[in-house]
Amino acid sequence: MSLSMRRTLIAGNWKMNGSLAANASLLAGILSDRSTSSAQLAVCVPALYLAQAQSVLSGSHVLWGAQDVSAHEKGAFTGEVSAQMLVEFGCSCVIIGHSERRSYHAESDELVAQKAQRALASRLIPIVCVGETLEEREQDATNAVVSRQLAPVLDAVGTQLGSIVIAYEPVWAIGTGKTATPDMAQQVHARIRAMLAERDAESAQQVRILYGGSMKPDNARELLAMPDIDGGLIGGASLNALDFLAIANSA
Ligand code: PEP
Repeated sequence: MSLSMRRTLIAGNWKMNGSLAANASLLAGILSDRSTSSAQLAVCVPALYLAQAQSVLSGSHVLWGAQDVSAHEKGAFTGEVSAQMLVEFGCSCVIIGHSERRSYHAESDELVAQKAQRALASRLIPIVCVGETLEEREQDATNAVVSRQLAPVLDAVGTQLGSIVIAYEPVWAIGTGKTATPDMAQQVHARIRAMLAERDAESAQQVRILYGGSMKPDNARELLAMPDIDGGLIGGASLNALDFLAIANSA
């Protein structure tokens, strides 16, 4: 299977930003692009704005999704949002296990795996985030950390491996302006793909592995040129339509 089978995915993670007015202008800016980028675009918006995303983006080339999902199907889980609710608002994808949720909400590798499974059960694409802290990188533990984070996810998704997306996001590069060099990122992406191949060689070639961590218009091209970097999960730069589009157009 050739590399070209993996369509580049550029997904925006708006985090807890936006307002009805700001979103309207950001989405209009994204939709106004007339370039012919072959990349697939997605925006992951705060859950309350999914209805707005659905109404503005329905029928367009831009997909939308959420930033988290409950591990449970339904019931007494105050404050949580279920996978079926995301489906009802037209979501295609959902970010799972972002480092901010792992650190501020104590999400474990096992919970992340359950959420990925829950998303797949509702036919949502889970964008599963993994990545090491600066301290872990300095201890040469990057591969060990990423393997530990991914193992329960791979157990949980089983034969649906080909339907997930993975985002490698070194924690020290998120929102800091520090980017992994293309070679550093490629090494980890290749390691991740090798891990996937141990489970299922064919699916491993289909899975898109995104890079995330201060991806910007001026560094996107060289990152996206690496053989195992199949797109980007974009935080800060996804809040500006021109920057987001410039990244997509450098794919
Ligand atoms: C992210 O939070 O997923 C991210 C990559 O953020 P930033 O692009 O701002 O580093």
